[in-house]
Amino acid sequence: MGAKGGAVVVVIGVIHGDEDAGLLITDELLRMRAPSGVELWVVPTINPDGTAADQRGNANLVDLNRNFPYAWAPMGKPGYWQFSGSKRASEPETKAIVRFMREMKQELGICYHQDLNMISPGTGFEGQVRAQYARLTGIPLKRITGGTYTGVAATWQRNTFAPGGAFVVELGESLSRDSALVHAQAVHIVSMTVRDR
Ligand SMILES: [Zn+2]
Repeated sequence: MGAKGGAVVVVIGVIHGDEDAGLLITDELLRMRAPSGVELWVVPTINPDGTAADQRGNANLVDLNRNFPYAWAPMGKPGYWQFSGSKRASEPETKAIVRFMREMKQELGICYHQDLNMISPGTGFEGQVRAQYARLTGIPLKRITGGTYTGVAATWQRNTFAPGGAFVVELGESLSRDSALVHAQAVHIVSMTVRDR
């Protein structure tokens, strides 16, 4: 899954099972050789049941992106589209990825969603990395409006690990093969930015 040693970067193709365009990007990444000095971990989906069923939540109908253990709050119940689960990290998928990431001590995390076609701007070094990714892929850098988000994977990553942080790429409604390749190359380029920091 990439060169051993170096800056640890974790890419998650899918969290919400009905937002699976990120799989095209992880396919490309798995075909490419990671840049030297970058340990690139590619996780096509952390929600295999939801991905197979083409549904947002996992098999328990939990929205995994409301289930992570940072700033978790109860939300809804099974059947509600953003059901948070009964407690923080209640789901096996969340527990598995939390354990994996704690072991990896990632320096950068990238998670794909759909279909707002945007990346939220960040601050400091992370802001530079987000802006670079946006520039390379043509995804607009803009602030998400409205809503409070609890138990979000990228927020947990950002608050658990240091330097480059973690960010969400909201892809559009669909993604062409060519665009998927552009995204995969952007992952490599921002990974090198984190490596060379
Ligand atoms: Zn999503």
